[in-house]
This record gives sequence, structure tokens and C-alpha cells, in this order.
Amino acid sequence: MRLKIAVLAGDGIGPEVTREATNILRAVAELGGHDFTFSEALIGGVAITAAGTPLPTATLDTALDSDAVLLGAVGDNKFNALTPDKRPEAGLLQIRQALGGYANLRPSVAYAALAGSSPLRPEVTKDVDILFVRELLGGLYFGSPREWNKQTNEAINTMRYTRDEVVRVARVAFELASKRRKKVTSVDKANVLEVSQLWRATVTEVAKDYPEVTLEHQLVDSMAMHIMNIPRNFDVVLTENLFGDILSDEAGVITGSLGMLPSATIGGAVNLYEPVHGSAPDIAGQGKANPLGAILTAAMVLRHSAGLEQDARAVEQAVHKVLEAGYRTADIARGDANTQLVSTQEMGKQVHQALAESIDRRQAMHAV
Ligand code: NAD
Repeated sequence: MRLKIAVLAGDGIGPEVTREATNILRAVAELGGHDFTFSEALIGGVAITAAGTPLPTATLDTALDSDAVLLGAVGDNKFNALTPDKRPEAGLLQIRQALGGYANLRPSVAYAALAGSSPLRPEVTKDVDILFVRELLGGLYFGSPREWNKQTNEAINTMRYTRDEVVRVARVAFELASKRRKKVTSVDKANVLEVSQLWRATVTEVAKDYPEVTLEHQLVDSMAMHIMNIPRNFDVVLTENLFGDILSDEAGVITGSLGMLPSATIGGAVNLYEPVHGSAPDIAGQGKANPLGAILTAAMVLRHSAGLEQDARAVEQAVHKVLEAGYRTADIARGDANTQLVSTQEMGKQVHQALAESIDRRQAMHAV
């Protein structure tokens, strides 16, 4: 398997967690005999410092010439005085737009070993494994007209979707559900919004092509409650842009730390993979960052860009294993006697070791 990966580590803790994620990808390549190549490029504040712009042309070229883009995080307080279009975060918006991915995948998984880290009761989070599929290029964030008219004191944003935009993201949700627990929950506000009525009718139509997958519809307001009350009822949750933004952040609470959350954006020219967290300037350069969100993002690269499902699962299981063994970065540590506080690098090393053992075991079984 050959894979060209563009590595855009960015600012703050971005380089620290991305180093651990690429180490895991290198290990998978080495252990499985795959040919992964890594090209590093600048984005965000480091790119402004070096090239005067948050997304230099050379970075975009590197990204477009790759099979997958792995991004760390962007954001640096020293650029706060710049206008939003010149700040590090503009680089992120520009690359997302240039790559054109329309389906944002955000898993929310409850790790048994971290049951006490979430504000939700362990019996509520037990066995939760939700995959959000959020439409990323349409809806209120992009619809026009949009305006704040300061003369009339009136502002407008437009929620707009075409049938084709709904079909393509719904297909992603059903395809993924057919490989999981075979359930799609589509979220809308069809009792009030025409856009949601189009959304519901279209998703219902797409579902006919996937008879093995159960479809249910939920209104966004009641869904916000169900996610907190009965999260284990959900498998794949399909949403439009704004609802997905809000609900996937809400469901992030299940995991217990922002540092645990991976994401992937697929469907465009090149898939974009990034942990959900930002550059965390408050802990940057101190070895305190949790690299597991970035490592789980690497697992998504293996699943969605390399087709290496077994290896993706092996990485996810290695994460479970190190958590069960008691290793914790500061954000998920609760000072229990049986847990061990480790640095970013040590956490990466532990996952690497657990992964190598599991791949060795698999290879030994195949050799028998
Ligand atoms: P943040 O995600 O960087 O940090 C929020 C809090 O969570 C902080 O206390 C931080 O220490 C903690 N945290 C985040 N990731 C962690 C990890 N891996 N391990 C341990 N703790 C972690 O959000 P913020 O503080 O609002 O923003 C900081 C900068 O990052 C800003 O410039 C913002 O614009 C940018 N940002 C970038 C992205 C991105 O690159 N995708 C996303 C969000 C924010």
C-alpha cells in the first residue's frame, strides 16, 4: 500500500501531537510493509512568520499533491491584532475550502478506562460509540444572502441546501453505517424549516438503497437531550452543518477531554484529517498535550485513505489498552493510585508499543 501524506503540524501543541501521530503511521507502514511518505509543510502562525501568509501556495500544492493531509492545529496569540482573514485560523478555513471535503466525520467514543473523566455518569456513557457525519459545505454558514445591515439594524443568514448536496452526504452516512451497527439517525427541524423537509425527504429516499440500514429521524432539539440521556442508542448521526457543529461538540463531553477527539473531512480532492482541539497555547511546549486525539486521527487516515481497516482498529485498540493500563496525560488524569501521569511523548511511546505487540501477534497468527 502506497500513501503520500502531507503533514501540516501548525502551531502550539500541533507539532507535539502530530509527531506522535506520524510515529504511529510510520510504525504501521514498517510493521505491515507499506510505503508511506511524509511531506511537511507550513500552515497557520508558523507560515505567517516564515512566508507572510497562513496558507502559502507551496503548502497548498503539497496538500493537493498528496493522498491525505494530516493537520495538527493552528492559532497563536501573537497574531491576535491581525484582521481575521490574515490570522493563523484563516489558513485552516482556506485549506478546508480548497480541499473541498463535504462530509465531516467526528467519532465520539466512551473509553471504559476514562469513565470518570466525563461529567456524565459511567452507566450513561458505557459502550457509547457515535459517529457524526456533518455536512460541511452548505447550510447557514455558506448560504446567501448574508448581511448585517447596521443602518437598518437588521441581519440575515440563509439556510439553503440542494437535493444533490443532501444525497452525497447521506450516502457517506449510509455507507459508513453499513460497516458499523447499521443505524442512521438523521437530525433536522422538519416541523418548522422547509430546508429540513427537503433534508428529511431526501435522506428517506437515499435510505431505500441501503435496506440493511435502519433509518430514524430526530428533531434537533430533542436530539440534544437524547445525546446526553441515552447516547448508546446512536450509531451514525447525520446532520446538516450548523446542527452538526453544535451536537458533535455536545457529544464530545462523552469522551471526557478535547484532547481525545479525532476528525476527518472526506469527499473532496484530498481527505483532511485533524484532531478537534486547537493549538492550546496555555500548555504548548511543556510536554503536557494529550496526543491521543491526533493518534486516533491517524487511525482515521488508515481507515478512510489507506483502506487499512484492520490497522485502524489496531491503533484504536492500542489506545484502549494504554488507557486501561493507567497511562494518563494531565487532561485525563484524576490522581487515582493506579494511574500514571505521562508526557505527550511517553503516551505516544506506550501506544506505539501496544500497537507493535498487536500487529506482531496478528502476523504470528497468519504465519501459523
Ligand atoms: P484549544 O482547543 O486550543 O484549548 C482549549 C482547552 O483545552 C485549553 O485549556 C487546552 O489546554 C486544552 N486542550 C486542548 N487540546 C488539548 C490536548 N490535546 N491535550 C490537553 N489539553 C488540551 O482551544 P482555544 O484555547 O479556544 O484556542 C486556542 C487557539 O487554537 C486559538 O488560536 C484558536 O483559534 C485555535 N483553534 C484552532 C483549532 C484548529 O486548529 N482546528 C480549533 C480550535 C481552536
